[in-house]
Amino acid sequence: MSSGLRRVLITGGASGIGRATVLELARDGVPLVIADRSEEDGRRVAEEARATGADASFIPCDVTDEASCAALAQAVRQRWEALDVLICCAGILRGAYVNIDQLDTTIFDQVLDVNLRGTFLSVKHAVPLLRGGIDPLIILVASGAGVIGGSSSIAYGSSKGGVHGLSLVLDQHLRAAGVRVLDVCPGNVDTPLKRENVRDAARARGADPETAVTTANLTDPAMIGKVMRFLASSEGAAVRGTIFTR
Ligand code: NAD
Repeated sequence: MSSGLRRVLITGGASGIGRATVLELARDGVPLVIADRSEEDGRRVAEEARATGADASFIPCDVTDEASCAALAQAVRQRWEALDVLICCAGILRGAYVNIDQLDTTIFDQVLDVNLRGTFLSVKHAVPLLRGGIDPLIILVASGAGVIGGSSSIAYGSSKGGVHGLSLVLDQHLRAAGVRVLDVCPGNVDTPLKRENVRDAARARGADPETAVTTANLTDPAMIGKVMRFLASSEGAAVRGTIFTR
């Protein structure tokens, strides 16, 4: 399988599923721009990708900040003129195991701000570049949470239901421009986000958080990276809609 040389911009590429996706794509020599608000981790992942021979660079970006998303798109334009694949992986999970009547509204706002509004802003500013790309593709990362079931966090499940809805609406709006929109819904992947969620679950039931992490049977993020690699490649061109992983 080859991912060809499709130019890929990935948000949230500094950690977890985003990082695993970067490393899978880098192995194919895919040109990459990694965007994340975590500069130290982002630069490290770009170095890891370059060590495999890929043309990878890191650009700091906070997806909740529209000027930051616009500057990211401008930097990509200067580098490549156009973009073939946008992957929106940036996300946070807060407010787990808190009842709705106890949930701090600022937590709800923060989660919606990053996961839903941040995805909207990332797409908004990348679409003009994608219109000039080859077989342009957007991959949003939602979740099983709020899409096929509930969530430990009311804020998180709501935000991911929103991302899923956004993918359906974008697919309709961008189809005429030839831009495909996919929605990947992972679950229980071994990342810092999920590990903290497992610890929260253990704390909520009075169990030991670290024991819970070691017995949680989480999926290796590399497995999701491989799915992303296929979807982003020309061989994934027949796929449409929502993709669930384990
Ligand atoms: P992670 O915490 O390892 O990675 C998330 C990345 O997003 C981090 O690098 C972080 O710095 C970045 N980020 C957060 N806020 C940002 C902002 N405002 N601007 C730019 N970057 C920001 O978590 P992960 O598990 O790899 O999550 C990746 C995506 O997958 C998220 O959207 C998450 O909701 C989704 N997801 C994860 C799981 C799972 O089991 N791990 C399941 C379903 C969905």
